[in-house]
Amino acid sequence: MSTRDGAMARRLAVIGAGYVGLTVAACFAHLGHRVSCIECDEAKARALAAGRVPMAEPELQPLWRRHLEDGTLTVHCEAAEGLPGAEVVFLCVGTPSSPDGAADLGQVWRAAAELARAMPRGARAVLAVKSTVPPGTTHHLSVMMRGLRPDLHLPVVANPEFLREGRAVQDFLSPPRIVLGADDEEAARTLAELYRPLDAPVVHCRPISAELAKYACNAFLAARVSFVNEIAELAETLGADIGEVTAVMGLDPRIGPAYLEAGLGWGGSCLPKDLRALIALARGLGVPSPVLEGIAQTNARQVARTVARLASVAGPLEGKRVALWGLAFKPGCDDTRDSPALALGRALQEAGAEVTAYDPVASCTEFAIHRDPYRAAEAADAAVVATGWPELRSLDWARVRSLMKRPLVLDARNALDGEAVRAAGLVYMALGRPLVGEPAPVEG
Ligand code: NAD
Repeated sequence: MSTRDGAMARRLAVIGAGYVGLTVAACFAHLGHRVSCIECDEAKARALAAGRVPMAEPELQPLWRRHLEDGTLTVHCEAAEGLPGAEVVFLCVGTPSSPDGAADLGQVWRAAAELARAMPRGARAVLAVKSTVPPGTTHHLSVMMRGLRPDLHLPVVANPEFLREGRAVQDFLSPPRIVLGADDEEAARTLAELYRPLDAPVVHCRPISAELAKYACNAFLAARVSFVNEIAELAETLGADIGEVTAVMGLDPRIGPAYLEAGLGWGGSCLPKDLRALIALARGLGVPSPVLEGIAQTNARQVARTVARLASVAGPLEGKRVALWGLAFKPGCDDTRDSPALALGRALQEAGAEVTAYDPVASCTEFAIHRDPYRAAEAADAAVVATGWPELRSLDWARVRSLMKRPLVLDARNALDGEAVRAAGLVYMALGRPLVGEPAPVEG
């Protein structure tokens, strides 16, 4: 059997069916390989085997279903069922934060122990570590596997994943680069061959450099947003417009426009935990990291800053109703892990406000949630854009105005056309931008 580009189809296994594992499994099946996906959460595995992908990730569901149906993709709960025959095993389990901020590698070690129990005697395979792990983990995994199963030929390669939620399939299939941190040349060649159809530059490096590069990329993206948020606060104080400032910055080829959006700050399942892990790593090594710590501190201020900005126009929030537009940590996905939008909702509640939320796909148990932004805005004293869902841009602002008790919109993602909002008679506030419209008299 051969793949889409005529190469030999391989038998692959993926351990862990989260955002990364599901995308890796579905995309390699799409490229023509046979993939067994191993997920220890039985309910999740059952849903996946029935074709239900448990997250709102565009393109993933149809791809997943197609390859379940054509038999190139199978789902298993037990490693012993999914691993035999695999030539490459992708480790895609979670690496959450421990209480001290360091990465909790419990899932990684448990998966490795299961792998050691399940691999057939004398098997040869490459173990590719897709999970984001602290530098040195790939080496420890190699030592661990050699100790547990000296009969196996199982080189371990650091192969960090850079996909973004909300565009996971696209990102996986058109990556800007593939990183292969390997000590074993043959293992690196096997993986490079698998990725060849994606036509991306391949960076071959030491495993420890690959591991550190993944953390460095996430920290740098967070740094850009925190930097812009500091400039936005200055802009607000000076009467400048952060949108105009970042337009100038973004056109500088040395800077570029990405990740220069001022607002509520960064969140999600990766940036916060990976920055915490990097800071913990530096601390443990005795390496000063004031820049890394500053990135986190600036981000941590954004929610309180947003609440204060709202109160500066709306007055005390006690007893006020606030429509929270958005719960997901970013548009295009339903992931609320470390979501600044949820943190904002909680802070508004702590300030005494009643929160009515809207999100097209994400859910939570803490607020009344509507799937319709107009319903959430009914009788509200203010509406706050907490996730930059594109559909919010085209709301009928006259209708919003007629539904709200007071005409105040705080765009904490700088996602709206402020002039359109203003034209409907609403007061429009954004972060790092001058106020548009006359604030209504503050009550209470
Ligand atoms: P996730 O928590 O959504 O999914 C991990 C899955 O692994 C869970 O379903 C869990 O039940 C399963 N699992 C854990 N131990 C297992 C075992 N022993 N056997 C079988 N299944 C097991 O995580 P995620 O968001 O997919 O991220 C996975 C890794 O990739 C993390 O290290 C993360 O930092 C990194 N990463 C994530 C993204 C992203 O956008 N989410 C992007 C790049 C890298």
